[in-house]
Amino acid sequence: MKLFNTLTRMKETFEPLETGRVRMYNCGPTVYDYAHIGNFRSFLFADVLRRYFEFKGWKVTQVMNITDVGHMVSDADEGEDKMEFALKKLPAELRGKIKDPWALARYYEDAFFEDMTALGIQKAHHHPRATEHIPGMIKMISTLIEKDFAYVVNGNVYFSVEKFPKYGTLSGNFIDNLKPGARIEINPEKRHPADFALWKHDPKHLMKWPSPWGEGFPGWHIECSVMGMQYLGDAFDIHTGGEDNIFPHHECELAQSEAATGKRHVMFWIHARHLMVDGHKMSKSLGNFYTIRDLLAKGYDPAAIRYSLISSHYRQNMNFTLSGLDAAKSAIMRLREFKERLENSASTDHPDAERLLNDAAAAFTAAMDDDLNVSSALAAVFDMVAAMNRIEISRKQADEVLAFLKKIDRVLGVIEFGGTAALSSEEELLIKQRENARKSKNWAEADRIRKILDERGIILKDGPQGTTWKRK
Ligand SMILES: [Zn+2]
Repeated sequence: MKLFNTLTRMKETFEPLETGRVRMYNCGPTVYDYAHIGNFRSFLFADVLRRYFEFKGWKVTQVMNITDVGHMVSDADEGEDKMEFALKKLPAELRGKIKDPWALARYYEDAFFEDMTALGIQKAHHHPRATEHIPGMIKMISTLIEKDFAYVVNGNVYFSVEKFPKYGTLSGNFIDNLKPGARIEINPEKRHPADFALWKHDPKHLMKWPSPWGEGFPGWHIECSVMGMQYLGDAFDIHTGGEDNIFPHHECELAQSEAATGKRHVMFWIHARHLMVDGHKMSKSLGNFYTIRDLLAKGYDPAAIRYSLISSHYRQNMNFTLSGLDAAKSAIMRLREFKERLENSASTDHPDAERLLNDAAAAFTAAMDDDLNVSSALAAVFDMVAAMNRIEISRKQADEVLAFLKKIDRVLGVIEFGGTAALSSEEELLIKQRENARKSKNWAEADRIRKILDERGIILKDGPQGTTWKRK
């Protein structure tokens, strides 16, 4: 199998360090807000990658962290902690309910897991919280100071990039080229403008811990180094994230991890590209900013969201559109209808069936082995579906095809969708009819439809933004 390694900027053959066992770390969410569909593209990429490793018969240990302290608004050292910033800007419905950054973190962590479940994303084996790994961080920072890779000024601890000549290898941002600017502000405490904080001394910070350098909190980068090593060892196979994590986050993580252990930290750094919406960068002001719950509230099928976000290659910028979700839904329906047809197949053996199936299976694996090319793997499946829909096959042949569909769906997770069960088109229609009834103030009709849906296990909630639904 080949994977594109950001570190070498090449597709390289991937073999786990330990035969048969893949150790993978995925940079997880910072729980100060709902994760948006761009974040979920990256988390879904990690989910499909893990499932494909398992498809290949490898055991996987997957870690996805929860960042609940120390991630500054700028992604570098400047600005406020995102948690404290978000606490001041709480949406109206949470004001009064959430009083401190701890409660804020738990609220958005729960929301994150709900969204993961909705999309059928498997839980990682470990979801460590940064706030629960502070002693490990203090220990690694102490090691870096002892080894002279870090220095203390006024209770702040900084990593000295000049002591680590490889700094810049991952992102291409070598220290000679790093000019103070948007990402790097002049801080008189730093020996080099690119030095970054390992520990921030700040007795006023709401989330703070005692340390040998005074009360404060850890830098964002050291969190991932420590949690990765604790659960996966000093050196492990794969570290993923979105492309905006490459610098400064992963560059700094690589530097401090390798400086601390003297070993190569990660074999493959893999990054998912950005997601655009309607051809533009997603932004709240453009009105093209979507969370998973926004889309579910609009009635979109979570399986279609999953399909749409996994079906373009992770290293291509993806253009997400709502019409793309409709197309994704039809694609899933084609697969489900095909499956239903197979379940009812009872003709005689067809001479082409075996070849069609073998070709599709080979093409699927070849595409996925080529840097997880999901779109081309799906194309191979749909070629087979189209060809098989033109012939009649026997029960035995149909069972073989069904077994293949089951196997690939353990990777894709869209046919037998493991997330929140989607609405049928009839249920969707009922919700629309009820909305119309409400608009014309026909409350009796609206209540009648609500009861029908309730009997089917669908709970409706009417809010200022319209009606949302969920399964009981
Ligand atoms: Zn990280």
